[in-house]
Amino acid sequence: MSILEVQNLTKKFGGITANQDVSMTVEKNSITAVIGPNGAGKTTYFNMITGVYQPTSGTILLNNEKLNGLKPHEVSKKGIARTFQNIRLFSEMSVLENVLVGMHTHIKAGLIGILFNLPAIRKEEKASEVKAYQLLEYVGLAPLLNEKACNLSYGAQRRLEIARALAAKPTVLLLDEPAAGMNPKETNELTQLIKKMRQEYNLTIILIEHDMKLVMEISEHIVVLDHGEKIAEGKPEHIRNNPKVIEAYLGSG
Ligand code: ATP
Repeated sequence: MSILEVQNLTKKFGGITANQDVSMTVEKNSITAVIGPNGAGKTTYFNMITGVYQPTSGTILLNNEKLNGLKPHEVSKKGIARTFQNIRLFSEMSVLENVLVGMHTHIKAGLIGILFNLPAIRKEEKASEVKAYQLLEYVGLAPLLNEKACNLSYGAQRRLEIARALAAKPTVLLLDEPAAGMNPKETNELTQLIKKMRQEYNLTIILIEHDMKLVMEISEHIVVLDHGEKIAEGKPEHIRNNPKVIEAYLGSG
């Protein structure tokens, strides 16, 4: 059963066509990878799905509900969370606070609780902290909860971004180059974490990634972009041997 239907997305920036008629069907609880050379249009595609950019044309349907026109926070409330290619943490805030920011309820509850000192809301705030702690345990960062985000290693910062995305309780999680800058050990841990999250949080995961070992190991479906267009899609074994994909992307490495 599909959860996300992306139909003919096109995005033009003035004279540049970043995406041209890119469609994909994402099955519930699957892992899909979007791959392709630099500048192929992968991040633009994520930006349209998450409401950062409005498509020039095309439709995005989540559980048959149209997402076009929604703002990023509205898309997030519908159940799509993401991480960014360039890590976007609140670097001077603690690890725990970064996860709390990802919780929709916390922001409201925290502000009202502080303003009016309401015990019920304080209790809700406490519950949010417990949940945030559990998420940090899940991604292996609980021992660092009071550390400033900027003091974490690169791999740990990427895991913190994932914990923050999970805090929004998504059904679909988009990861933009989650393994970028990671060493082989961190990449291996990330691979296990992605598999575990899909299973335990019943998540549908879509990732942009250049690490082909990771992509081939965890994806059921791969979409290949080149110059803004989809040039192939299918199972890893088919993509790996597709001459068009080898010529445009895989052969260059
Ligand atoms: P990379 O792997 O390097 O991150 P990508 O596949 O994610 O690349 P995009 O970042 O989506 O590619 O860029 C696709 C094209 O769209 C590029 O030519 C880029 O310069 C252009 N582009 C992206 N965002 C904008 C923007 N805000 N304004 C103008 N052009 C843009």
